[in-house]
Amino acid sequence: MFFKHFFKNHKESQRIYLDYASSTPYDGTLFTDLKKISKSVLGANPSALHKEAVELKKVLEEGRAKIAKAIFAHSDEIVFTSSATESNNLAVLGLVKGYLQKGFKHEQIAICTSDIEHSSITEQVNYLKQSGVLHFSISSRNEVWDFKKIVFPERIKAVIFSVIYVNNEIGVVAPIKEIAKHIRGLRKEWNDVEFIFHIDATQAPLFYELRVDRLGIDMMTLGATKLYTHKGVGMLYKKRNIKLNPIILGGGQELGLRAGTESVDIIHHFVHAFLYAQKNIEKFSEKIKSFQKYFENKVETEISQAVVTAKETERSPHISHVAIPSIDSELLVIELDAKGIAISSKSACKNDSSTDTESASDITKEIYGDGYGAIRVSYGKWTTKSDLDKMVLALKKILEKYKDI
Ligand code: PMP
Repeated sequence: MFFKHFFKNHKESQRIYLDYASSTPYDGTLFTDLKKISKSVLGANPSALHKEAVELKKVLEEGRAKIAKAIFAHSDEIVFTSSATESNNLAVLGLVKGYLQKGFKHEQIAICTSDIEHSSITEQVNYLKQSGVLHFSISSRNEVWDFKKIVFPERIKAVIFSVIYVNNEIGVVAPIKEIAKHIRGLRKEWNDVEFIFHIDATQAPLFYELRVDRLGIDMMTLGATKLYTHKGVGMLYKKRNIKLNPIILGGGQELGLRAGTESVDIIHHFVHAFLYAQKNIEKFSEKIKSFQKYFENKVETEISQAVVTAKETERSPHISHVAIPSIDSELLVIELDAKGIAISSKSACKNDSSTDTESASDITKEIYGDGYGAIRVSYGKWTTKSDLDKMVLALKKILEKYKDI
């Protein structure tokens, strides 16, 4: 029995995890100093009126105040949700619902997104387009993103810009401050049109300062899956003057914007993990950047056909996207998994999609065309250079195995 158990754990520990952009494993050491919520209080519903509930509500509101302060916002601008996906939906669909209620027609609403958004934005865009909402796609391919080229028709009454801050697949960083500046210009030029700027900053908190005043944005999505804490919580920052309509109907929790009882303990952890991430950006980025540099040099030197995507563009340190001709992306993921290495070829969310049967991601296909496979290697706090050596060696062996097929 003991040997069986030992062997299992030993085997597990041999695995190499390089999929931090998909999910950061839980790190209990982050929370050793975090004040525990007593069991009796934790069991309460924070919206109830008794003593335990009031105490739990206090923890929730303290968390809201702390995260608001950290991003230079007000407490009543913070809505806790279940995930980054839900926050993105509340931001976009919530705005559109509000505009429709105000009497705007679908055709009078426009949404501008980059061409490298997460599916929790692109699927909303596809849905909204069906009912007549206009969509403008901003190309992220050039050094200067082409958001200035958009020409809005006269009938437009509201424009939502929704841009991914750090792309989850190739790591490209959007020029948020420049887009914000452009939107300020649009507001002056079109003073009877409402312009809202939402960013999806889910991949950003470990590496980029998220001060909403400095970024010049109106709404911001965050999620727990990239913060070494429990999953199941997200957050939407929205400026006070923005009218959102809830997309989940029910109770009046979260300023009436998100019905459903809050899971205060995981919110408590999420807030702490976010503050920790923002405090340690410099040190952590430096460490993670060294892995990115090491891996990219090694993979390009040792595998001549490997191409690192967007190498010259500003990218987050935690992601390397590597394209390889004449190989299937999914095959690479499966073969690497069999060799004990966990990576992804695209957003994990797309793997579950019944409509997405392609192995290469849309981004890979758009950049390289057909005939290329790609992998995303992403680094985190438990990565070592030895892991990366093993990763390159494993990749070399797989490419050798399939070279004549
Ligand atoms: N936005 C971005 C940029 C992401 O990377 C992710 C997670 N892959 C999400 C949104 C959705 O996060 P979740 O699955 O936790 O809702």
